[in-house]
Amino acid sequence: MKKQKNNIFISTLKKIKVNNDILIRTSLSIFFTSIFIVLFFAFGGLLYFYNVVVVDKFSGYDFQVHFIDVGQGDSILIKFPNNETMLIDTGDREEGEKVSSYVNNFLRKEKLESLDYLVLTHPDADHVGGAIDVLNTVKVDTVFRPKVYTNLEAEQISTEEEIMISTTQTYDNVINLIIEKGCNVYYNEKGINMNLGGCEIEFLSPELNYYSSTNSISAVIMMTYQTKKFLLTGDADIQIENTLIEEYGEYLNADVLKVAHHGSNSSSSSELLEIVSPQISILSVSKNTSLPSVDVINRLNDINSKVLTTSSNGSIALTIENNDIIIATEPSPKIDIAMLISIYVIFLIFAWGIKLKNNQNIRRKNVIKENKLNNYDI
Ligand SMILES: [Zn+2]
Repeated sequence: MKKQKNNIFISTLKKIKVNNDILIRTSLSIFFTSIFIVLFFAFGGLLYFYNVVVVDKFSGYDFQVHFIDVGQGDSILIKFPNNETMLIDTGDREEGEKVSSYVNNFLRKEKLESLDYLVLTHPDADHVGGAIDVLNTVKVDTVFRPKVYTNLEAEQISTEEEIMISTTQTYDNVINLIIEKGCNVYYNEKGINMNLGGCEIEFLSPELNYYSSTNSISAVIMMTYQTKKFLLTGDADIQIENTLIEEYGEYLNADVLKVAHHGSNSSSSSELLEIVSPQISILSVSKNTSLPSVDVINRLNDINSKVLTTSSNGSIALTIENNDIIIATEPSPKIDIAMLISIYVIFLIFAWGIKLKNNQNIRRKNVIKENKLNNYDI
């Protein structure tokens, strides 16, 4: 009888201990998991899962210019003070998803619904390829396109004039989709001028019916807001630069220059850079190419321009505040720190689990010993 009572007492104690162990382990797990979640988010661990990061430092600002990191290609998103938006180029086909995600995230953050203007500076794939994804995921009202005809369009045109015809399927696909979506379409042309909520957009190039290569028909845009000027040059080459210098001279002076053709040496002559004399120069480049050219970087250093590349900074956003240009860059994912913390916390949880398991085994052995001693008592 005494033995039976003892056994019930001991097994109750055992149950309480086991329940306590589970409780302690659960509490510790919850505790460490909570710390992990807080630290993971605090150190930007979330960026591990999302590779499209909108530079949102200027969220809600009237005027924002975003140079989206599309490797070697261009894609510039602008929000104007009247809440209209413009995307100049879309990166290449592989970057389309990133650009459309960036634009969609941006529009959502700004509580806007559509892209008012899409400008395709010239037909090269690294400028128009991503437009397929953009057009399929964002409502685009108006498109400015190069006067380069698709093969289908060329078949339908009867003209004696020399016309420029697309040489890539990518460009044909983009233009066909623009037509299919029913966007308003205009050809890029020198002289186009728009005032969007006090921000002036002016096409300085191309002159229609002037062709030698796809880069030489690149749209060049001067954007002026308050006292600041932005010169966006697409892939314009030195030949175009010389024409611009001849026609516009000192008017080309700007605070921000989107350096032409990803810093290629066939653009950005010393003559042009001295006239533009930008405080800030942005280069849309990839880490994996020979661009920007060292010569162009040297020429930019010679005029004391602050050089920012998308390859080093990721996407870059600019705004104007108190008559100054303010820069924000993509936050670098501190994923190494986040991962280290994760490994450390997981290790701790396992270590505690093993320790508790050992304690539990020792207690179980003690209980068996106690049982044996109690048996001898009788
Ligand atoms: Zn290009």
